[in-house]
Amino acid sequence: MQFGGERKNAHQRQQRGRGKARLSGDNSSQYTHRLQFYRLPPTDNISLNEFEDFAISRVKVLRHVEQAGQSYVRGTEKYKEYMDKELRHLMPLAVRKDLKDDFEERRKDHISHFILRLAYCKSEDLRRWFISQEMDLFRYRFLMETDKREVTRFLQENDLQFTPIPEDEKKQIAKYLCASSFSMTMAMIEHTDFYKVPFTEAIDLVRGRKVYLHKGWAYVPHNDLVSIILSAFRSHLSQALAVTARSIPHLEEDDRLLPMLNNLSKQYLGQNYSSVKTNTGKIELKDMDMHARKSFPLCMRQLHTELRENHHIRHHGRMQYGLFLKGIGLTLEQALTFWRSEFSKIMEVDKFDKQYAYNVRHSYGKEGKRTDYTPYSCMKIIMTNAPATGDHHGCPFRHTDSKLLKQRLASYKVNQAGVDEIIDLVNKSHYQVACSKYFMLTHNNAKTDVSIQHPNQYFEESMKILSGDKKYEGSGRFSSPRPSQLNKPPPQRPVEQPSQNQDTTTKATNDQFEDEFNMSFEELEAMEKEAMEKVSA
Ligand code: SF4
Repeated sequence: MQFGGERKNAHQRQQRGRGKARLSGDNSSQYTHRLQFYRLPPTDNISLNEFEDFAISRVKVLRHVEQAGQSYVRGTEKYKEYMDKELRHLMPLAVRKDLKDDFEERRKDHISHFILRLAYCKSEDLRRWFISQEMDLFRYRFLMETDKREVTRFLQENDLQFTPIPEDEKKQIAKYLCASSFSMTMAMIEHTDFYKVPFTEAIDLVRGRKVYLHKGWAYVPHNDLVSIILSAFRSHLSQALAVTARSIPHLEEDDRLLPMLNNLSKQYLGQNYSSVKTNTGKIELKDMDMHARKSFPLCMRQLHTELRENHHIRHHGRMQYGLFLKGIGLTLEQALTFWRSEFSKIMEVDKFDKQYAYNVRHSYGKEGKRTDYTPYSCMKIIMTNAPATGDHHGCPFRHTDSKLLKQRLASYKVNQAGVDEIIDLVNKSHYQVACSKYFMLTHNNAKTDVSIQHPNQYFEESMKILSGDKKYEGSGRFSSPRPSQLNKPPPQRPVEQPSQNQDTTTKATNDQFEDEFNMSFEELEAMEKEAMEKVSA
């Protein structure tokens, strides 16, 4: 790939919004099939804007795939429905077969996959996550491809030597297929395509006695063929990621791409919970303990408890918790009162004002560079800056010892089955899914499909549920819906809306990216340093 153009070039963005961002020559012969095995890297010229947009868009797709896999059994109607719902907007190519000119979609699919290879090749965890989501996405897309000719063409183009058996041969051996295939009736055999596969490539199916074997060939039904193709896909992708990881040092001189790639895997793509919100000032300090008990996610409840018990938390904890409180609606004055009232139990008020108040004001954009800092997303909390001994920040599902986590969950009245389920998810590294499960169990199973991406989202979802049929207006306040609002659909989050207005959506996404991008931990460290210099000056 080559890169051209300046970041934030308004003209290019407009062009892209109209779907005319074909920057290179006509490569339509490059994408002959809707499905891809991603064997050859792209050779297009591509602008940095497009690079960024494609990357964010694919991360969103893979996150949705992950959520679907955690919420429903793969292959069921509910799973398919859930996948359809978002992919229809995020990746129409995966769902809709009626797209007239899907060249741009195929190109985006190809390029975005390779961009994410660069971002997710660096560690074992990232590689595992990426391969697992790409495999689920591939499986879903393959099973959506019901046209036998298209499947055959895909297999041929990718050198997968699996031959569909002709109808007359199928009729002759139908009774053997029925006897050997797992839970298939004669009627189902009639409507299913079977493929002849060398038995050595279908060992799992042979071992499970799920297929008919004859003269060294396994006769595999369409739905099982995918598992064989997936195993080829997995081995190809894991090799490719290893090769990509070795090439990454060559990118290190490129200061345009590397920071973007480094942040991609930690990127939060949802709502921006900064302080410029209508809920500012609507929370009351006297309700803080109640909110912590009922509506704070585990990470913030842990920090709140520590603060109440020991009247102090360390810097990273103060940043994580302080920005969260700002996001739920605490004003600067309330924040100062809140922190001062606890810290002054173990130190002079004067000391608090000199050493700590500056940082609180700084995080509200009232000191230093006057940046309006954004509350941390789950990704940021989970992926960066793990807590050391004596720290209380981080994500308990990621950073707490599982015995301790079990105890804590039990003390928060999660039943034994729930604790086991959560620990199981944690052991499989599904931290946010574990948090979503915890949310569900502590809110009377009120919502089964909430997907926690941000501690402030957790708080808002909780407040909505606790308000019953009233509308949550902001932190701690509720009101009944106005009559004119009763029949209106709920407001949508800007970046998750279907892209009817492509320009607006792209802008929201990019601004979000920039916002997170600008608030690195290095900057926060610099902020603390600046604050300490001021204090000692
Ligand atoms: Fe907090 Fe997110 Fe971890 Fe939940 S998943 S405890 S909200 S960091």
